[in-house]
Amino acid sequence: MKPKIHESCIACNTCEAICPEVFHVDDNGERLIAIVQDVDHAKYKEDIDDAISACPVGAISWDKE
Ligand code: SF4
Repeated sequence: MKPKIHESCIACNTCEAICPEVFHVDDNGERLIAIVQDVDHAKYKEDIDDAISACPVGAISWDKE
């Protein structure tokens, strides 16, 4: 599983502040949006869950694929 960022992201930086190893707000070519880094996501599960809870617009979820 890996975290997924939805279009509703408002680039507030909260997820990056909680878990900078996984989340990085950057320009995706169209706009600023949180981008998921290619790391061992299982290792950061607790921090990712915290970021999911803290995201003000509910824009992060676990992608089960
Ligand atoms: S906390 Fe949510 S809205 Fe803020 S940058 Fe992360 S995904 Fe986007």
